Amino acid sequence: MNAKENGPEPMTTLAETPARTGSAFRIEREGDLATVWFDLPGEKVNKFSTAVMSEFAAVVDELENDRDIKRVIIASGKPSIFIAGADVTEFSKATSAEQAAEYTRFGQQTIHRFSKLPQVTVAAINGAALGGGCELAITCDYRVMSDSPRAQIGLPETKLGIFPAWGGTTKLPRLIGLPAALDIILNGKTLDGKRAKRMGLVDEVVPAAILLDIAKQFSTKPKRRGSGRTKFYVEGNPLARRVIFGKARKAVMNQTHGHYPAPLAAIDVMEYGMSAGVERGLAREVEAVVPLIVGPKCEVAQNLIRLFFMMEESKKERIAASPVEVRDAGVLGAGIMGGGIAQLIADKTDAAVRMRDINWKAIAGGMKAAAKIWKKKVDRRRMTRGEMQRKLARITSTTDWSGFERCELVVEAVVENLDVKRQVLGEFEATARTGAIFATNTSTIPITDIAAQAVHPENVAGMHFFNPVDRMPLVEVIRGAKTSDVAMVTVANFARKLGKTVVYCNDGPGFVVNRILGPYMNESGFLLEEGNSIESLDKAMVDFGMPMGPMALLDEVGIDVAAKVAKILGGAFGDRMEPSHVVETLYGDGRYGKKNGKGLYLYEGGKRQGPDPSVYKLLNIRSTRPADAPAVVERMIFAMVNEAAMILDEKIVASPAELDLAMIMGTGFPPFRGGLLRYADKLGLPYILARLDDLFQKHGKRFLATAALRKLAERDGKFYR
Ligand code: NAD
Repeated sequence: MNAKENGPEPMTTLAETPARTGSAFRIEREGDLATVWFDLPGEKVNKFSTAVMSEFAAVVDELENDRDIKRVIIASGKPSIFIAGADVTEFSKATSAEQAAEYTRFGQQTIHRFSKLPQVTVAAINGAALGGGCELAITCDYRVMSDSPRAQIGLPETKLGIFPAWGGTTKLPRLIGLPAALDIILNGKTLDGKRAKRMGLVDEVVPAAILLDIAKQFSTKPKRRGSGRTKFYVEGNPLARRVIFGKARKAVMNQTHGHYPAPLAAIDVMEYGMSAGVERGLAREVEAVVPLIVGPKCEVAQNLIRLFFMMEESKKERIAASPVEVRDAGVLGAGIMGGGIAQLIADKTDAAVRMRDINWKAIAGGMKAAAKIWKKKVDRRRMTRGEMQRKLARITSTTDWSGFERCELVVEAVVENLDVKRQVLGEFEATARTGAIFATNTSTIPITDIAAQAVHPENVAGMHFFNPVDRMPLVEVIRGAKTSDVAMVTVANFARKLGKTVVYCNDGPGFVVNRILGPYMNESGFLLEEGNSIESLDKAMVDFGMPMGPMALLDEVGIDVAAKVAKILGGAFGDRMEPSHVVETLYGDGRYGKKNGKGLYLYEGGKRQGPDPSVYKLLNIRSTRPADAPAVVERMIFAMVNEAAMILDEKIVASPAELDLAMIMGTGFPPFRGGLLRYADKLGLPYILARLDDLFQKHGKRFLATAALRKLAERDGKFYR
């Protein structure tokens, strides 16, 4: 392609529409080409508020009326953002259905008008094109995308409890076919350029340096006519469509247990739009999205939007210190966690990784575990074999301390034993460079105890990952009694580089997540001992919205690990965390859970089958029955709420929102419920207190309401003010 052959001669000087003050858009003219630059003043990202959309509407007016312009490129002035989408702050604040409808319709119709421009339109996607940004891009005739990993395109709306209603739900299936559109919209997916091109979502993926040149070349191609596609025959047939939508509904129900209304609403709108046509599809988008934002059914979206803001907030550093840059990272212990942590560091950062264990067998295991995680990506074509080899080669290992003198930070993941951890810290300090940070991944032991004999306790912090490391999004960053601000921000900054959500915690056994999970797991043991069947306990909590039930979780985490945690928490908190006999008995029987194929469930080829009936005999349980689900949920959840009140009171975590974020990211506590404390507030603390008092009468001291909970119940009955 050559612009000179197909398009007009470029002018030697550029003419620009004078920038209005505070204007988000600038039109740059070059012959018959107009490049619309989106660069929202004073913001890191481009996003559409109503004010910005009004400006964009004025741009569309101008283009509609300009006969000299034959080609339009929409581009971003931000370095790695194309358009991040709608301004979430604004739409989540709509107070009436009319307001929400008006807001939605205006954005949708402005983008729709853009799609009908007589000019050839091209999106030059240099960075994230999400939500409204993607919806605008897909209405262009052509899309060219940068190959930078930061360039992502997709529709994450369902993750916020809504669905794309600026035309995406109606138009995407027409662009890339129904199955692919369902996949993106229902799962809130975003794709890099390579995958987007494979799906037909973008036309070309090129290096950032030539993005604009290639976009210009595309603008000389003929305009694409109509939104209909001919490539996909199957969904043209109403019967086939019905089958596809039926399957999609079933998959959503299996995945969400009906707790999330947005994906189901999206399916309805798509189904309608596919047969009724674009214009009616667009009208239906507005009608169907409004009740998700305002009114009696908006709770899920409101909770998910709050979660989004909590995550944004957690990315901001609030400790006033500068992080140390980590070029060389160390990992101590090549077990389940150490292997995973080494893999993650090599995967997400440029740091060299030095891993130490006490024997080569363990190191081989750690390397194998790391390779396995990458292998999965290679199998799913998310990375090449060469990339995998290069990343693997960045992890070197040793059984001595060689190489550790270079590390700015080491993550300690040796066995959960205070003496061993202290000894390892002592040996590290003997080798370490000045100021090197020792970040311990302990799950339960107070950081202050680990650092008690350290020469530099200010350099010791907690960096608590969750298992499996590559998939669990939370890292608790814990301040021991003497931890310095620099150590805290260095660990937090590094965790964020690894793609994790950070929650700052103060010190104490089990920190936040494990301490709250303690009573939950214990209670599941007591419930089992009372004769409630394994599968019915799990079902009760899965139906509540947990990603897996407590019995399956025990097997997954490892009964050996749980036994250690239970002992430490029981020792630290006494009556409130005195465990049932379940974990100890199973552990004594050599059942470690999934890892050795022996636990509460049976395993075949590493895959969980039905419950293991021999467990009941082992635990002396004579007869079993299905659990009373609401009663199970109350006992297990209220035990957590009780502990959480105390954790807040002790200032282990700074706010209810951070505690909720930690529980959602660390345990998968159902996001649609907004978190443990948001859920407790919905029920009201006076109610929870009354139930705890009852349970105390029936089951004893472990349900004794904490003074902190009582105080809140009497204050205004809520955690959040
Ligand atoms: P693991 O038993 O799988 O691995 C521990 C490794 O440490 C072993 O390979 C062992 O050989 C090695 N080791 C022992 N002494 C050592 C020393 N002096 N120097 C170097 N290596 C040494 O244990 P894991 O499950 O990976 O747990 C490690 C740490 O992470 C523990 O503190 C644990 O509480 C914590 N943790 C575990 C989980 C989990 O679910 N497994 C989750 C979060 C945190």
